[in-house]
Amino acid sequence: MKTETARCRSCDQDELEIFLDLGLKPPSDRILTKEMLKQTEPYYPLEVAFCPHCTLVQILETVPPEDLFTDGYEYYSSFIPSLLKHSRENVLNLINSRKLDDDSFIIELASNDGYLLKNYVEKGIPVLGIDPAPGQAKAAEKASVPTLNAFFTAELARKLRDDGKQADVVHANNVLAHVADTNGFVEGIRILLKKNGVAVIEVPYIKELIDHCEFDTIYHEHLCYFSVTALDYLFRRHSLFLNEVKKIPIHGGSLRLYVEPKEDVGKSVIKMLADEADQKMDQIVYYQNFSENVIHLKNKLYELLQNLKAKGNKIAAYGAAAKGTMMINYVDVGNNLIDFVVDRNIYKHGKYMPGKHLPIFGTEKLVEEIPDYVLILAWNFSEEIMEQQREYQEKGGRFIIPVPEPKIV
Ligand SMILES: [Zn+2]
Repeated sequence: MKTETARCRSCDQDELEIFLDLGLKPPSDRILTKEMLKQTEPYYPLEVAFCPHCTLVQILETVPPEDLFTDGYEYYSSFIPSLLKHSRENVLNLINSRKLDDDSFIIELASNDGYLLKNYVEKGIPVLGIDPAPGQAKAAEKASVPTLNAFFTAELARKLRDDGKQADVVHANNVLAHVADTNGFVEGIRILLKKNGVAVIEVPYIKELIDHCEFDTIYHEHLCYFSVTALDYLFRRHSLFLNEVKKIPIHGGSLRLYVEPKEDVGKSVIKMLADEADQKMDQIVYYQNFSENVIHLKNKLYELLQNLKAKGNKIAAYGAAAKGTMMINYVDVGNNLIDFVVDRNIYKHGKYMPGKHLPIFGTEKLVEEIPDYVLILAWNFSEEIMEQQREYQEKGGRFIIPVPEPKIV
């Protein structure tokens, strides 16, 4: 199916080809308070398309930010232990390899609660975080991480540069796919970088999404789904060069990109570009079976839950994040199948999941109530969650992991 109206977020060509339609969905991070339950919830279309010109996969709809990042936006990175460890290792490696010291300057875009930058602060290296979410920016300041509470744009980058604030390292983890003005954001990164600086950017890898049927990582906040090929095009248009790339396991399989103002393309990038071309990831054909696979997974998971429920089992779910919202809404799992959702994030307790309005509690409720099964919505942290919940398991509880194929463990 071709659409003539939408333009590519990267190359601005029209003629995007839609290969998946997930229907109308509520914004996935818009966790609801009791009062919000009485209001009409916003729903938006969720269609995924491929750009035949620059190969970028993207959703068509851009939901207004005020519907996404309200007071309901409660994602605090510091609640995720494996993310903290991952970030710390990344920073320590960069300090070593780039010989960073108190003369260096580090900027992080979407710095959240300072979870990453605090590793530099500890070593006496000056930093600046930039994050649009007020609660997170405040939490960062409290953790001694100087933070600008603002949306990052090319204009803000120019202002910082004119104030002499260019960076040796610009971090941008899990944000490039979330910004409505993709080109403005990349342009801003180029402006912020010193001549010898490097942008270290992490994005989920579309190959993992397609090959492992991780359809629940598609939501309105997440506008682009990147291949190395699409990223290479994007950066080059802004005189930036993707010089190294690493596959990393975080968030169901991601890429860590090393992007610099000077061209010095390493073997890692050359190899991945060749691999992607071999697998036809630069053509629509690679994406065409995905819709069928998603419907298959949806039906299988629904059947599994329904059968368990019919036998009188009590089922809970773990993970009140965006992915969880997508999974329960797309698979149509309401309070007929799931009793409640648990999450470690205390800001979400006493609130409700978007769309299905399942109540959210602290994780201790699993041990208190011992539901027969727990559907792990945050499946990218399955091992960590099962490890934390050993007591629940020892008392007879079991887990369901939904992707790439629903299975009971
Ligand atoms: Zn394009």
